[in-house]
Amino acid sequence: MHSEDKLKPMLIGSEWLKREEGAIASLNPATGKVNWWVSSANEALVERAVETASNAVRQKAWQSMLPHVRARILGSISEGIRAHSEELAHCQMQENGKVLSECRAQVASAADTYRYFAAVCETQGSEVTPARGDYLSMTTYEPYGVVAAITPWNSPLTMEAQKVAPALAAGNAVILKPSEVTSSTALIVAKIALEAGLPSGILNVLPGQGEIAGKALVQHHNVRMVSFTGGTVSGKAIASMAAQRLIPVALELGGKSPHIIFDDACIDSAIDNVAGGIFEGSGQSCVAGSRLFVQRSVFQEVVDKLVEKANAITVGLPEESGVEMGPLATMAQRDRVEAMVDSARREGGNIVAGGKRPSDPCLATGVFYKPTIITDLDSSSNAVSEEIFGPVLCVLPFDSEEDLVEKANDSVFGLAAGIWTANYQKAWRVANALEAGSVWINTYKKLSISTPFGGYKESGLGREKGISGLRLYQQVKSIYWNMV
Ligand code: NAD
Repeated sequence: MHSEDKLKPMLIGSEWLKREEGAIASLNPATGKVNWWVSSANEALVERAVETASNAVRQKAWQSMLPHVRARILGSISEGIRAHSEELAHCQMQENGKVLSECRAQVASAADTYRYFAAVCETQGSEVTPARGDYLSMTTYEPYGVVAAITPWNSPLTMEAQKVAPALAAGNAVILKPSEVTSSTALIVAKIALEAGLPSGILNVLPGQGEIAGKALVQHHNVRMVSFTGGTVSGKAIASMAAQRLIPVALELGGKSPHIIFDDACIDSAIDNVAGGIFEGSGQSCVAGSRLFVQRSVFQEVVDKLVEKANAITVGLPEESGVEMGPLATMAQRDRVEAMVDSARREGGNIVAGGKRPSDPCLATGVFYKPTIITDLDSSSNAVSEEIFGPVLCVLPFDSEEDLVEKANDSVFGLAAGIWTANYQKAWRVANALEAGSVWINTYKKLSISTPFGGYKESGLGREKGISGLRLYQQVKSIYWNMV
């Protein structure tokens, strides 16, 4: 099936273990070729990883390390990620097809995330709280112990750093189960972490199937907290398993984010950001602005400009300079996009751009799809209400602010939103009325590691990033001292 040197291992403690049985093929979505194979954990290996992580927690080598020493190691991981920038960027590109420039930016973001949580680790304190008598009351923050982190394929470099760095900064041991599609960058980062001095067993990487390794991790009695990013269906399954064990879960789930253009907006800036907001990463972004609401008086102007913009996007091999959009990450993902566009056609949608694969023969073996824009759909149609997770934008008109807010909030999701208007009072009113965890005003998709991120409604539970991103991985203890 595959040669030994093309089989990547998993990491348990400081042991790199290979398992041929059930190995997962890592496919390059730009070419359809096999990159390499990845060992896949079964239940017995999950058991072994949890035991290893639990032992590391019991030994307290990491938890009792002084915060500034722990911070130094997290800082070295950040530097190591930066030093391996090209290897990491190419690895992610080969596995999920993101254009190289975006992969490089994501490596830099992952390095910054470790640096940020190194600083947080060194500076976080306990608190003295107001007492109601002759005693001193304090609040301290403690790690949970063993944390399971389960991640998707669209941006493994950043998503995994956003979980692993704060969980480590908080003093936990982590077992990371990356997506079946993109397991390999996690292995490189784990090697960097060991070289940076992270004690053995504090970071373990278990590639494997969600239904086998993921499920066994969530159900394991020694896993004390689960941090998940992925689809809403898997998120709900994980939340109900965690509920049976009464352990906390953090969920970063799907979205169907509204992007809104009022008639007083700077239309050209809005067009650039709307196009970037949906077509970057081939639309495989949880915050993709996939429902565009345009005030009726500028509707046709916006659609015409967007169609021109979409048709000018260079779709191609992700490593080539000048390419703006690579392939989708998997065959299954393109099948889903095609099925959703077909369903939009049946529901009366007008495909004004794209709606098909590119004709370039050089791209024929990859899973490419053209930037697609659909008008004339009802809010209740599948393409408007479901997350497509592909380069497909549905454009709908609105008449008034009230009409817009009702339509924009008419979704089970609530991850993000964008507003374009020159009127700051209106921007403020609408930003407050929208049910979304992040709202951008006259910009889109700007993210900062120090600003909390997460979803309303079925887009998730809890907030990553910022101090809230550290608190996710800590339990709170109150201590009372008698002073008389
Ligand atoms: P997915 O839910 O299929 O898989 C995510 C991870 O969960 C994978 O590692 C998978 O193996 C694992 N998994 C699946 N079923 C499981 C189970 N029953 N028990 C334990 N683990 C299980 O998602 P995906 O297709 O990899 O990623 C795309 C989705 O992720 C989209 O819906 C997207 O919106 C979402 N996403 C959300 C954010 C966010 O921050 N809100 C960020 C990126 C992606």
